Amino acid sequence: MFKKILATGAALAAFSSPVQANELREAVTGDMPELMELYRDLHANPELSFQEVETAAKLAKRVRALGFEVTEQVGQTGVVAVMRNGEGPTVMLRADMDGLPVIEQTGLPYASKRTAIPASGVETGVMHACGHDTHMTAWIGAAQLLSERKDEWSGTLVMILQPAEELGEGALAMLEDGLFERFPKPDYVLGFHDAAQFPAGMIGYSPGFALANVDSVDITIPGIGGHGAYPHTTKDPVVLGSAIVMKLQTLVSRESSPLDPAVVTVGSFRAGAKHNIISDEAKLQITVRSYTDESRQLLLDGIARIAKGEAIAAGMPDDKMPTVTVQDPYTPATYNSPEFTEDVMAGFRERFGDKRVMKVPSVMGGEDFGQFLRADPDNIKSLIFWVGGVPAEDFAKAQAGEADLPSLHSPFWAPDAEKIVSTATEAMTAATLDILAPQAGS
Ligand SMILES: [Zn+2]
Ligand SMILES: [Zn+2]
Repeated sequence: MFKKILATGAALAAFSSPVQANELREAVTGDMPELMELYRDLHANPELSFQEVETAAKLAKRVRALGFEVTEQVGQTGVVAVMRNGEGPTVMLRADMDGLPVIEQTGLPYASKRTAIPASGVETGVMHACGHDTHMTAWIGAAQLLSERKDEWSGTLVMILQPAEELGEGALAMLEDGLFERFPKPDYVLGFHDAAQFPAGMIGYSPGFALANVDSVDITIPGIGGHGAYPHTTKDPVVLGSAIVMKLQTLVSRESSPLDPAVVTVGSFRAGAKHNIISDEAKLQITVRSYTDESRQLLLDGIARIAKGEAIAAGMPDDKMPTVTVQDPYTPATYNSPEFTEDVMAGFRERFGDKRVMKVPSVMGGEDFGQFLRADPDNIKSLIFWVGGVPAEDFAKAQAGEADLPSLHSPFWAPDAEKIVSTATEAMTAATLDILAPQAGS
């Protein structure tokens, strides 16, 4: 239906004409002071994954006041807000809510001073270091504009606040709690993420695979411990672990297709306690990244095979083979439906101009946004795009090689939130209005 609208030039022009664009932008500009107040409040009060209780309550109250039917505690702390407005497709807009166990060091006047206790049990500072506060603020911005413009769209709007994106578990938690059964199932799913590598206000997109499958793999390697001076009486798990680490490098370089992106990174290798003791155990922690299901399986099978093969080569007895554990659930790759993506971007280009909308390379980072499409890949179209957040000055300095930019998750990530929120509010609202444009004659 959306494609048809775009195919008929007249309908498209109606929504993308400068008059319309300016009117929506003016409305966004008018809402910005209030939205920035909300942003600063969210930024100062971040909550950890699955602990987003105050955040959820605060925002649920706002959308309820806008006339949405609101359900809380979907997938633990998630929020679902529904607005039914006649015939037409269903669009779902998603924002994630969680902060990170990071001690903020931006020095901003509204910097977080909050602390909390994550699953590790060790108290930590909490910060919106991934910018989910910008996502929630623009989500409220879009909710306001769309509820004020009910005569400009027809269909169903489902707006969700998702918990625990940082654990890769929140989207699945909402789906398993009946997101697509208890509430209208979307035809289109839209979201955005702020970006620490693009200038503020730029929109970046990747059709097809945009973010990777993320697997966490643990290998426990038994050894036969003993005195460091008598290695021949032991089986050294440090040497065996080292052989496994080196052999793992051949998975990407020799087994996976050079045209199929893949990463195997050993992030942790722990063993032993003293110079002269050969340990009886080593532990590896590995992150594995891929795009397709096949490539993921090839890497996971390869890791299990190499661990066992190297242990056999080291002469380990059968009852002391390494154990390989793949964390379940994993974060599946995020796939942007290509035609839908191009349709939305055509609208953005008209609205924001070619210079602000750019196709960018996919990344091997992860996002659990992909779960929504995976829940019904034949009927759902989905898109997550980037909105640049690097303040113009910082970006210019970085371009000139005079400064390094902090990445997402950095304690120094202080985006140009105003630019992100205004751009994303307008973009999410405009895309929704385009998709839900009333059909001619209806
Ligand atoms: Zn993050
Ligand atoms: Zn994030």
